[in-house]
Amino acid sequence: MQLLENVSLRPYNTFGLEAKARYFVEVTTADELRQLLQNPRWQQVPKWILGGGSNVLLTQDVDALVIRIAIKGMEVVKEDDEHVYLRVGAGEVWHELVLHTVEAGYSGLENLSLIPGTVGAAPMQNIGAYGVEIKEVFEELEAVHIETAQARRFKADECNFGYRESVFKRDLRGQYIITAVTFRVNKVPAFQVSYGDIQKTLAEMNVQELSTRAISEAVIRIRQSKLPDPTQIGNAGSFFKNPEIPKAQYDQLKQEYPELPGYVTAPDKIKVPAGWLIEQAGWKGFREGQVGVHARQALVLVNYGGGTGEQIKALAERVQASVEAKFGIKLTPEVNFI
Ligand SMILES: Cc1cc2nc3c(=O)[nH]c(=O)nc-3n(C[C@H](O)[C@H](O)[C@H](O)COP(=O)(O)OP(=O)(O)OC[C@H]3O[C@@H](n4cnc5c(N)ncnc54)[C@H](O)[C@@H]3O)c2cc1C
Repeated sequence: MQLLENVSLRPYNTFGLEAKARYFVEVTTADELRQLLQNPRWQQVPKWILGGGSNVLLTQDVDALVIRIAIKGMEVVKEDDEHVYLRVGAGEVWHELVLHTVEAGYSGLENLSLIPGTVGAAPMQNIGAYGVEIKEVFEELEAVHIETAQARRFKADECNFGYRESVFKRDLRGQYIITAVTFRVNKVPAFQVSYGDIQKTLAEMNVQELSTRAISEAVIRIRQSKLPDPTQIGNAGSFFKNPEIPKAQYDQLKQEYPELPGYVTAPDKIKVPAGWLIEQAGWKGFREGQVGVHARQALVLVNYGGGTGEQIKALAERVQASVEAKFGIKLTPEVNFI
């Protein structure tokens, strides 16, 4: 375990933003992590946890001990007629886990192909895409309490998963470091292809028989055509969550904007695509200096190179204000601000 000082975080965040970590360390095992947390040298120093840096906006230097989670390993810990239980180190790359399950013929993760980041960060916001969220395949996770260095297991019902939410983003924010996650993947496939362009893309690919691999490949194609690649243009995916509004408000807006899309999420709740609202407010393709709103996907704020976190934050606030003024809807960021 090598402890470094004044480390540039630019290579460690997908926005490609410059910010310095006062202290920086990479941990490769849960034991190493516990030792670090128990060391009196670090007990009073604030800590910040970093995975793949694909859901963070660095607006300033991080005056803390930045702990980068690099805990590896994937193992089958249990198996029954229907399921395989895979325990995965928090530092594994998410998409590599998806590919591993596709290779092995297990289904459940294929719709979540190509989401950037690490396995340990996935439960933080209950990552989701194309009609699937990880809560559907989540068995349990292992975490270490930052203050006491005690290990603890969390079952699904203790994680309070919601849309891009969990207990770790809310009540237990900043208290636990996730070290491993166990997933319950299916031996008998249960495909979910009703969402987005999956069926259309499968047809374009000339797929005759549905398979985990075909769905994974279709999702990869769709994502590559729609989302900017962070290695080319700095971004953190969807910057805002899709807002859920009362049905009465939706019905009223629909009279003024007949094209307004919406998905029923509860008897009185409608989810509205934030990207549509931002586009209607005139932001799609907007650029100011080195930051902007992506030309193909208005939900993605971008750093063309050399922009700052403060500039992106200021742009996000302008977008929020104009959407609220036009539609009376408050957008909430999905990205974690530092
Ligand atoms: C191009 C692009 C597309 C994306 N598409 C999607 C999508 O379709 N669906 C979706 O849900 N998300 C999407 N995202 C967001 C992002 O990929 C996910 O949120 C991912 O889970 C973040 O993982 P990470 O390792 O990069 O986390 P980081 O950005 O490093 O961290 C995110 C947050 O989690 C905390 N954290 C990280 N690791 C741990 C840990 N082990 N223990 C405790 N806390 C931790 C951090 O402190 C921070 O608050 C996209 C991002 C990009 C850039």
